[in-house]
Amino acid sequence: MRQPLNVLAVTVLSLNAAGVFAAAPAKVTDYAMKAQKVAPNVYAVITPARDFPSAANKGWNSNSAFVVTKDGVLVFDTGASETIGKALRQVMAKTTDKPVRWVVNSHGHGDHWLGNNAFAGAEIISSTHVRTHVTQEGASWVGRFTTMTGGITGESRVVAPTRVVDARTTMQFGEVRAELLLSNGGHTAGDVVLWLPEERVLLGGDVVYSDSAPGTFDGNIPSWIAFLKELEKLKPKVVVPGHGRVADGAVITRQREFFEQIWAIVQAGHEKGKLDHEILPEVRQKLAKYKKLYVNFDDRIGRTVSDFYQQVEASAFK
Ligand SMILES: [Zn+2]
Repeated sequence: MRQPLNVLAVTVLSLNAAGVFAAAPAKVTDYAMKAQKVAPNVYAVITPARDFPSAANKGWNSNSAFVVTKDGVLVFDTGASETIGKALRQVMAKTTDKPVRWVVNSHGHGDHWLGNNAFAGAEIISSTHVRTHVTQEGASWVGRFTTMTGGITGESRVVAPTRVVDARTTMQFGEVRAELLLSNGGHTAGDVVLWLPEERVLLGGDVVYSDSAPGTFDGNIPSWIAFLKELEKLKPKVVVPGHGRVADGAVITRQREFFEQIWAIVQAGHEKGKLDHEILPEVRQKLAKYKKLYVNFDDRIGRTVSDFYQQVEASAFK
Protein backbone atom coordinates (compact mmCIF):
# COMPACT_ATOMS: atom_id res chain seq x y z
CA MET A 1 0.00 0.00 0.00
CA ARG A 2 1.19 3.49 -0.72
CA GLN A 3 1.95 5.84 2.12
CA PRO A 4 -0.46 8.76 2.44
CA LEU A 5 0.83 12.11 1.32
CA ASN A 6 2.48 14.40 3.77
CA VAL A 7 0.19 17.27 2.87
CA LEU A 8 -2.15 16.80 5.75
CA ALA A 9 -0.68 18.97 8.47
CA VAL A 10 -3.29 21.62 9.03
CA THR A 11 -3.29 25.15 10.34
CA VAL A 12 -5.44 28.14 9.58
CA LEU A 13 -3.74 31.35 8.51
CA SER A 14 -5.37 34.75 8.45
CA LEU A 15 -4.86 37.72 6.20
CA ASN A 16 -2.08 39.99 7.32
CA ALA A 17 -2.78 43.60 8.22
CA ALA A 18 -2.19 44.82 4.67
CA GLY A 19 -5.05 42.65 3.51
CA VAL A 20 -3.02 40.84 0.94
CA PHE A 21 0.34 39.21 0.80
CA ALA A 22 3.61 40.93 0.24
CA ALA A 23 5.81 37.97 1.07
CA ALA A 24 7.64 35.94 -1.56
CA PRO A 25 6.19 32.52 -2.41
CA ALA A 26 6.86 29.83 0.15
CA LYS A 27 9.80 27.54 -0.41
CA VAL A 28 8.85 24.47 -2.38
CA THR A 29 9.99 22.36 0.53
CA ASP A 30 6.89 23.16 2.57
CA TYR A 31 3.97 21.02 1.53
CA ALA A 32 1.85 21.25 4.64
CA MET A 33 -1.63 22.08 3.37
CA LYS A 34 -3.17 25.09 5.11
CA ALA A 35 -6.41 27.03 4.87
CA GLN A 36 -5.81 30.76 4.48
CA LYS A 37 -8.73 33.00 5.42
CA VAL A 38 -9.31 35.64 2.73
CA ALA A 39 -12.79 36.82 3.78
CA PRO A 40 -14.97 35.97 6.81
CA ASN A 41 -16.36 32.85 5.11
CA VAL A 42 -13.83 32.25 2.31
CA TYR A 43 -10.59 30.28 2.52
CA ALA A 44 -7.81 29.68 0.02
CA VAL A 45 -5.60 26.58 0.03
CA ILE A 46 -2.41 27.64 -1.72
CA THR A 47 0.33 25.30 -2.87
CA PRO A 48 3.91 26.54 -2.80
CA ALA A 49 4.53 24.76 -6.14
CA ARG A 50 4.78 26.75 -9.35
CA ASP A 51 5.10 23.90 -11.80
CA PHE A 52 3.37 20.75 -13.01
CA PRO A 53 2.55 17.85 -10.67
CA SER A 54 5.68 15.92 -9.75
CA ALA A 55 7.00 13.56 -7.10
CA ALA A 56 8.87 16.52 -5.58
CA ASN A 57 5.71 18.59 -5.08
CA LYS A 58 3.71 15.47 -4.11
CA GLY A 59 1.37 16.06 -7.03
CA TRP A 60 0.02 19.19 -5.35
CA ASN A 61 0.57 21.98 -7.86
CA SER A 62 -2.70 23.93 -7.97
CA ASN A 63 -4.74 26.05 -5.57
CA SER A 64 -8.22 25.43 -4.24
CA ALA A 65 -10.65 27.56 -2.25
CA PHE A 66 -13.74 26.94 -0.17
CA VAL A 67 -16.72 29.01 0.93
CA VAL A 68 -18.50 28.15 4.17
CA THR A 69 -22.24 28.87 4.20
CA LYS A 70 -24.99 28.05 6.69
CA ASP A 71 -26.28 25.34 4.34
CA GLY A 72 -22.97 23.69 3.50
CA VAL A 73 -19.60 24.25 1.88
CA LEU A 74 -18.69 25.11 -1.70
CA VAL A 75 -15.29 23.93 -2.98
CA PHE A 76 -13.67 25.69 -5.91
CA ASP A 77 -11.27 23.27 -7.65
CA THR A 78 -10.46 19.91 -6.10
CA GLY A 79 -6.78 19.44 -6.96
CA ALA A 80 -4.71 17.13 -9.14
CA SER A 81 -5.73 13.77 -7.62
CA GLU A 82 -8.14 12.08 -5.27
CA THR A 83 -5.40 12.07 -2.67
CA ILE A 84 -5.19 15.85 -2.89
CA GLY A 85 -8.99 16.06 -2.74
CA LYS A 86 -9.01 13.97 0.44
CA ALA A 87 -6.26 16.14 1.96
CA LEU A 88 -8.38 19.19 1.15
CA ARG A 89 -11.31 17.66 2.97
CA GLN A 90 -9.18 17.19 6.06
CA VAL A 91 -8.03 20.80 5.94
CA MET A 92 -11.61 21.97 5.57
CA ALA A 93 -12.74 19.83 8.49
CA LYS A 94 -10.51 21.94 10.77
CA THR A 95 -12.55 25.00 9.80
CA THR A 96 -16.11 23.70 9.45
CA ASP A 97 -18.16 20.59 10.16
CA LYS A 98 -20.67 21.44 7.42
CA PRO A 99 -20.90 19.01 4.51
CA VAL A 100 -19.55 19.87 1.09
CA ARG A 101 -22.63 20.42 -1.06
CA TRP A 102 -21.19 22.09 -4.11
CA VAL A 103 -18.01 21.83 -6.17
CA VAL A 104 -17.03 24.20 -8.98
CA ASN A 105 -14.43 23.05 -11.51
CA SER A 106 -12.70 26.09 -13.04
CA HIS A 107 -11.58 24.30 -16.23
CA GLY A 108 -10.66 20.98 -17.77
CA HIS A 109 -6.94 20.75 -16.93
CA GLY A 110 -6.60 17.73 -14.67
CA ASP A 111 -4.84 19.53 -11.83
CA HIS A 112 -8.09 21.37 -11.04
CA TRP A 113 -10.68 18.59 -10.93
CA LEU A 114 -9.11 15.15 -10.43
CA GLY A 115 -9.95 15.47 -6.73
CA ASN A 116 -13.71 15.49 -7.51
CA ASN A 117 -14.18 11.91 -6.35
CA ALA A 118 -13.18 12.91 -2.81
CA PHE A 119 -16.43 14.94 -2.64
CA ALA A 120 -19.00 12.26 -3.40
CA GLY A 121 -22.58 13.49 -3.19
CA ALA A 122 -21.78 17.12 -3.98
CA GLU A 123 -23.23 18.82 -7.01
CA ILE A 124 -20.33 19.49 -9.41
CA ILE A 125 -20.78 22.65 -11.43
CA SER A 126 -18.87 23.71 -14.52
CA SER A 127 -19.33 24.50 -18.22
CA THR A 128 -20.39 22.09 -20.95
CA HIS A 129 -16.93 22.36 -22.43
CA VAL A 130 -15.35 21.23 -19.17
CA ARG A 131 -17.79 18.35 -18.79
CA THR A 132 -17.03 17.15 -22.32
CA HIS A 133 -13.29 17.52 -21.79
CA VAL A 134 -13.36 15.65 -18.47
CA THR A 135 -15.42 12.85 -19.98
CA GLN A 136 -13.25 12.48 -23.08
CA GLU A 137 -9.79 13.29 -21.73
CA GLY A 138 -10.13 12.38 -18.05
CA ALA A 139 -8.40 9.01 -18.31
CA SER A 140 -5.43 10.53 -20.12
CA TRP A 141 -5.05 13.18 -17.37
CA VAL A 142 -4.97 10.39 -14.78
CA GLY A 143 -2.30 8.53 -16.78
CA ARG A 144 -0.22 11.65 -17.33
CA PHE A 145 -0.21 12.68 -13.66
CA THR A 146 0.46 9.13 -12.47
CA THR A 147 3.55 9.11 -14.69
CA MET A 148 4.64 12.66 -13.78
CA THR A 149 4.38 11.98 -10.02
CA GLY A 150 5.82 8.46 -10.13
CA GLY A 151 2.45 7.20 -8.85
CA ILE A 152 2.72 9.13 -5.59
CA THR A 153 -0.86 10.44 -5.79
CA GLY A 154 -2.47 7.02 -6.02
CA GLU A 155 -5.56 6.18 -8.02
CA SER A 156 -7.93 8.88 -9.26
CA ARG A 157 -11.37 8.19 -10.65
CA VAL A 158 -12.78 10.46 -13.33
CA VAL A 159 -15.86 12.24 -11.99
CA ALA A 160 -17.41 14.73 -14.40
CA PRO A 161 -19.49 17.83 -13.59
CA THR A 162 -23.14 17.04 -12.84
CA ARG A 163 -24.51 20.49 -13.67
CA VAL A 164 -23.44 22.79 -16.48
CA VAL A 165 -23.71 26.55 -16.77
CA ASP A 166 -22.93 28.18 -20.10
CA ALA A 167 -23.60 31.86 -19.51
CA ARG A 168 -22.99 34.33 -16.72
CA THR A 169 -25.25 33.11 -13.90
CA THR A 170 -26.01 34.34 -10.40
CA MET A 171 -26.36 31.46 -7.96
CA GLN A 172 -27.23 31.23 -4.30
CA PHE A 173 -25.18 28.97 -2.02
CA GLY A 174 -26.76 29.16 1.41
CA GLU A 175 -26.71 32.86 2.31
CA VAL A 176 -23.83 33.52 -0.11
CA ARG A 177 -24.55 35.00 -3.51
CA ALA A 178 -22.09 34.12 -6.24
CA GLU A 179 -21.74 34.80 -9.92
CA LEU A 180 -20.32 32.24 -12.30
CA LEU A 181 -18.57 33.96 -15.18
CA LEU A 182 -17.37 32.24 -18.34
CA SER A 183 -14.40 33.28 -20.44
CA ASN A 184 -15.71 31.82 -23.71
CA GLY A 185 -12.08 31.11 -24.51
CA GLY A 186 -9.32 32.35 -22.21
CA HIS A 187 -6.91 30.01 -20.45
CA THR A 188 -9.05 27.24 -21.97
CA ALA A 189 -12.28 27.20 -23.97
CA GLY A 190 -14.48 26.42 -20.97
CA ASP A 191 -13.12 28.53 -18.09
CA VAL A 192 -15.45 29.26 -15.19
CA VAL A 193 -14.56 31.78 -12.49
CA LEU A 194 -16.54 32.54 -9.34
CA TRP A 195 -17.17 36.10 -8.18
CA LEU A 196 -18.44 36.74 -4.67
CA PRO A 197 -19.78 40.30 -4.86
CA GLU A 198 -20.45 40.83 -1.14
CA GLU A 199 -16.99 39.63 -0.16
CA ARG A 200 -15.38 41.15 -3.30
CA VAL A 201 -13.44 37.92 -3.74
CA LEU A 202 -12.65 36.46 -7.16
CA LEU A 203 -11.85 32.75 -7.39
CA GLY A 204 -10.04 32.99 -10.70
CA GLY A 205 -8.87 29.48 -11.62
CA ASP A 206 -6.16 29.69 -14.26
CA VAL A 207 -7.66 32.80 -15.87
CA VAL A 208 -5.65 34.91 -13.43
CA TYR A 209 -2.05 34.27 -12.38
CA SER A 210 -0.35 36.21 -9.60
CA ASP A 211 3.36 35.45 -9.28
CA SER A 212 3.58 32.78 -11.97
CA ALA A 213 3.71 33.31 -15.76
CA PRO A 214 0.36 32.33 -17.32
CA GLY A 215 0.14 28.96 -19.07
CA THR A 216 -0.97 29.92 -22.60
CA PHE A 217 -0.72 26.56 -24.41
CA ASP A 218 -4.51 26.04 -24.58
CA GLY A 219 -5.40 29.73 -24.52
CA ASN A 220 -7.28 32.07 -26.79
CA ILE A 221 -5.37 35.29 -26.22
CA PRO A 222 -7.75 37.92 -27.66
CA SER A 223 -10.71 36.41 -25.75
CA TRP A 224 -8.58 36.08 -22.64
CA ILE A 225 -7.66 39.80 -22.79
CA ALA A 226 -11.34 40.70 -23.22
CA PHE A 227 -12.29 38.55 -20.22
CA LEU A 228 -9.57 40.07 -18.05
CA LYS A 229 -11.02 43.51 -18.87
CA GLU A 230 -14.41 42.26 -17.69
CA LEU A 231 -12.86 40.98 -14.45
CA GLU A 232 -11.00 44.28 -13.88
CA LYS A 233 -14.37 46.06 -13.81
CA LEU A 234 -15.43 43.96 -10.82
CA LYS A 235 -12.64 45.59 -8.77
CA PRO A 236 -11.97 42.55 -6.57
CA LYS A 237 -10.35 43.08 -3.19
CA VAL A 238 -8.94 39.57 -3.17
CA VAL A 239 -8.02 37.31 -6.09
CA VAL A 240 -7.35 33.61 -5.52
CA PRO A 241 -5.49 32.39 -8.61
CA GLY A 242 -5.22 28.79 -9.77
CA HIS A 243 -1.45 28.96 -9.30
CA GLY A 244 0.49 31.42 -7.15
CA ARG A 245 -0.19 33.29 -3.96
CA VAL A 246 -3.35 35.19 -3.06
CA ALA A 247 -3.34 38.72 -4.49
CA ASP A 248 -5.47 41.78 -5.06
CA GLY A 249 -7.18 43.05 -8.21
CA ALA A 250 -4.02 44.70 -9.53
CA VAL A 251 -2.73 41.35 -10.76
CA ILE A 252 -5.53 41.22 -13.33
CA THR A 253 -4.46 44.51 -14.89
CA ARG A 254 -0.83 43.46 -14.78
CA GLN A 255 -1.58 40.23 -16.63
CA ARG A 256 -3.74 41.98 -19.23
CA GLU A 257 -0.89 44.43 -19.91
CA PHE A 258 1.57 41.52 -20.13
CA PHE A 259 -0.59 39.89 -22.80
CA GLU A 260 -1.24 43.13 -24.70
CA GLN A 261 2.45 44.03 -24.83
CA ILE A 262 3.49 40.59 -26.04
CA TRP A 263 0.69 40.55 -28.60
CA ALA A 264 1.77 43.95 -30.00
CA ILE A 265 5.44 42.93 -30.26
CA VAL A 266 4.62 39.58 -31.85
CA GLN A 267 2.19 41.17 -34.29
CA ALA A 268 4.72 43.82 -35.36
CA GLY A 269 7.41 41.15 -35.77
CA HIS A 270 5.08 38.91 -37.73
CA GLU A 271 4.26 41.78 -40.10
CA LYS A 272 7.98 42.21 -40.75
CA GLY A 273 8.21 38.51 -41.63
CA LYS A 274 10.06 37.46 -38.47
CA LEU A 275 9.67 34.04 -36.87
CA ASP A 276 8.77 33.54 -33.22
CA HIS A 277 12.32 32.78 -32.08
CA GLU A 278 13.49 35.96 -33.80
CA ILE A 279 10.90 37.98 -31.89
CA LEU A 280 11.65 36.39 -28.50
CA PRO A 281 14.72 38.55 -27.61
CA GLU A 282 12.67 41.74 -28.01
CA VAL A 283 9.90 40.32 -25.81
CA ARG A 284 12.47 39.35 -23.16
CA GLN A 285 13.95 42.83 -23.21
CA LYS A 286 10.74 44.86 -23.26
CA LEU A 287 8.99 42.74 -20.63
CA ALA A 288 12.02 42.38 -18.37
CA LYS A 289 10.09 43.80 -15.40
CA TYR A 290 7.93 40.66 -15.37
CA LYS A 291 10.99 38.57 -14.52
CA LYS A 292 10.69 39.85 -10.97
CA LEU A 293 6.92 39.38 -10.87
CA TYR A 294 6.60 35.93 -12.44
CA VAL A 295 8.93 33.39 -10.82
CA ASN A 296 8.96 31.10 -13.86
CA PHE A 297 9.19 33.87 -16.49
CA ASP A 298 12.39 32.49 -18.04
CA ASP A 299 11.01 28.96 -18.28
CA ARG A 300 7.75 29.99 -19.91
CA ILE A 301 8.37 33.02 -22.08
CA GLY A 302 9.64 31.08 -25.12
CA ARG A 303 6.55 28.90 -25.18
CA THR A 304 4.34 31.93 -24.57
CA VAL A 305 5.78 33.78 -27.56
CA SER A 306 5.27 30.68 -29.74
CA ASP A 307 1.65 30.39 -28.59
CA PHE A 308 1.03 34.09 -29.32
CA TYR A 309 2.79 33.79 -32.68
CA GLN A 310 0.48 30.98 -33.82
CA GLN A 311 -2.57 33.00 -32.87
CA VAL A 312 -1.30 36.21 -34.48
CA GLU A 313 -0.62 34.20 -37.63
CA ALA A 314 -4.10 32.65 -37.58
CA SER A 315 -5.75 36.04 -37.02
CA ALA A 316 -3.78 37.54 -39.95
CA PHE A 317 -5.48 35.10 -42.32
CA LYS A 318 -9.02 35.73 -41.13
ZN1 LIG B 1 -4.87 25.16 -16.32
